[in-house]
Amino acid sequence: MNEQYLIGGVPAEELAAQFGTPLYVYDTGTIRRQYRKMCDAFHFVPLKVKFACKSLNNLSILKLLRGLGAGLDAVSIEEVQLGLFAGYRADEILFTPNGVSFEEIQEAVRLGVTVNIDNIAMLERFGNVYGSTVPCAIRITPHIEAGGHHHIQTGHIDSKFGISIFQRRHLMRVVKTCDLNIIGLHMHTGSDILDSQVFLQGAEILFDLAKEFPHLRFIDFGSGFKVAYKPDDVVTDMDDLGRNLSSRFLEFCAEYGRDLDLCVEPGKFLVSECGTLLVKANVIKPTISTVFVGVDSGQNHLIRPMFYDAYHHIMNVSNPYGLQRVYTVVGYICETDTFGWDRKLNEVREGDILAIRNAGAYGFTMSNNYNSRLRPAEVMVHDGRAALIRRREKLEDLLATQVPLEDSFFVHHTERPALV
Ligand SMILES: *Cc1c(COP(=O)(O)O)cnc(C)c1O
Repeated sequence: MNEQYLIGGVPAEELAAQFGTPLYVYDTGTIRRQYRKMCDAFHFVPLKVKFACKSLNNLSILKLLRGLGAGLDAVSIEEVQLGLFAGYRADEILFTPNGVSFEEIQEAVRLGVTVNIDNIAMLERFGNVYGSTVPCAIRITPHIEAGGHHHIQTGHIDSKFGISIFQRRHLMRVVKTCDLNIIGLHMHTGSDILDSQVFLQGAEILFDLAKEFPHLRFIDFGSGFKVAYKPDDVVTDMDDLGRNLSSRFLEFCAEYGRDLDLCVEPGKFLVSECGTLLVKANVIKPTISTVFVGVDSGQNHLIRPMFYDAYHHIMNVSNPYGLQRVYTVVGYICETDTFGWDRKLNEVREGDILAIRNAGAYGFTMSNNYNSRLRPAEVMVHDGRAALIRRREKLEDLLATQVPLEDSFFVHHTERPALV
């Protein structure tokens, strides 16, 4: 990089100076571009894009995506509530929980969202209470092996997600006996799928199963679309996937006898690239093995490098013409806390602002207060204007949920003799 680093047209250094660091910044132009790319790829089928709320749940992002035409993929009742609060209609939200109580599912039904059920026992309960009066969807595990890190693979044989396609006979028994009204079939095989053939294999399994369900309204292929984290990463070829899946889908609809919606549930694809985590270099610390750059953030703010071995590109935006040197960029948490080993950065000086890229998806939403650290602010850059969309936390936020006990609560047993 040899020039000023811009986010949505605004210099990153200016954003850091105005809002402070650490700071999450989201460029809406990138979200719009990705959304359009997805719609273009599937332009000849009735496409429903359900944004995966868990990837980035700021209300302003949810509103922006709804404005673009997206629905919402919610995995908890809280995400359902957040979606409703952001202005999504209940019928635009699909609730795909895993391992939740029946009470949570009942709450979702009360709120009017479609529930995507992922185990047979829950289907039985759902059927016993609602029969055919409340339609629902089912999540199928097609056992397609795909995905990046094993934590984010969901289609393998040991996966806790979904109803196995090998349980088909049992599933059909329950559906018929409980008189369930199934309006959607769903799969989500995991993240970081490279090959459109994987989707097509999964699709064939759902198409075959779909013949047993006459009342379907949609088939949902989940997500797992891979985006570039390294500059030369191979990514999901969305046009290729869109073309192949769409044409097979249309064929299927013709056989099925009716047009269905084709749903996808992108998180990363829509919001990964839009996000940058801006941090400040606190210390430059040469050791006998490397030169560490310690920054004013850590795995508490962006856990992906530590949790998934994820690569996030890092740039020094304050010294674009500096000599390139080799650094290890680490956070301030008392725990192994590395953002990147052996990175070439333009010479880093104390106080320089570093940009950690592709931090939009699973950045802020996975952040926490470990080490009693406060979470960063979030800023949205829209049409060249920067707006604060979540304020930085304060100490009061850490204390807000604690219930302090009276000192007298502790006095009854004095184990230590008083000092004389
Ligand atoms: C996490 C998740 C997604 C989004 O996955 P990405 O890799 O971020 O696109 C979609 N659907 C379901 C059910 C999920 O759990």
